[in-house]
Amino acid sequence: MAEDCIFCKIASKEVPSSIVYEDDLVVAFNDIDPQAPVHIVLIPKKHIPTVLNLTHEDQKLVGHMFLVAASLSREQQIAQDGFRLVTNCNRDGGQSVYHLHMHLLGGRSLTWPPG
Ligand code: AMP
Ligand code: ZN
Repeated sequence: MAEDCIFCKIASKEVPSSIVYEDDLVVAFNDIDPQAPVHIVLIPKKHIPTVLNLTHEDQKLVGHMFLVAASLSREQQIAQDGFRLVTNCNRDGGQSVYHLHMHLLGGRSLTWPPG
């Protein structure tokens, strides 16, 4: 738990959010500023600032995040049509919250390349 980290506070329920999935390793909640009909943020409960801070110890956790994202896509009925998983990193990636997270975006056709 990092002080002043909004996602740590969401994971500990100190800050309310619209949680759609939780287990011992991760929490998923609806994005407060959705960019698509389905926009879920998936975070590890462990505070890891960016993808650059991952270590080999986190390998299982990262794999778990992908499996949970795939399961959520089915639950949200966007698996068949398709969706996007995004992890922004640092300034040019557009990261605004420095607690590792994956965006699950779907429910509309997404453009490529991103802006
Ligand atoms: P990023 O810009 O990749 O770091 O993504 C951070 C995401 O977290 C943005 O899409 C924000 O809209 C979202 N976000 C920030 N604060 C909250 C919050 N309190 N509850 C839900 N989503 C949030
Ligand atoms: Zn955190």
